[in-house]
Amino acid sequence: MNDCIFCKIVKGDAASWTVYEDESVKAFLDINPVNIGHTLIIPKKHYKDLFDTPKEELMHMMKAAKKVSYALKKALRVTSLNLYLASGEDAGQEIHHIHLHIIPRFPGDNIKIHYRPKPELRQKFDEIQLKIRSMINL
Ligand code: 5GP
Ligand code: ZN
Repeated sequence: MNDCIFCKIVKGDAASWTVYEDESVKAFLDINPVNIGHTLIIPKKHYKDLFDTPKEELMHMMKAAKKVSYALKKALRVTSLNLYLASGEDAGQEIHHIHLHIIPRFPGDNIKIHYRPKPELRQKFDEIQLKIRSMINL
């Protein structure tokens, strides 16, 4: 993917503040951090979103997330973390090379992640449960 900024970072054609890499993933600081130590984890190969990414690659990303989380804890005294992954435009994905955000959290940092619950959707639980269960593993 020639025009993908994250592929450029992997190739070394764009700058990044890399904190960890191995043969399959790279972890680097987000250019617009929402907190100190905000890190992105990407597969080195270009995959668009969750549908596109093989499960082995997702496992590599999650293993790296664990490694980076411990480093953030020790290096920056991070007390808590949010992991965030936007898959697809409707979910707010802006860079179409899958990436996992690791967002360090500190006491009283006042970062709000807004989800407004829709309790009326409980009425559909039976129907939705059946629909989803019928498609698992298909
Ligand atoms: P998304 O909204 O797709 O989940 O997040 C994309 C993230 O990539 C944003 O947090 C944005 O700050 C980050 N980002 C965009 N361009 C660059 C870049 O060139 N370098 C780095 N390090 N991060 C980037
Ligand atoms: Zn890419």
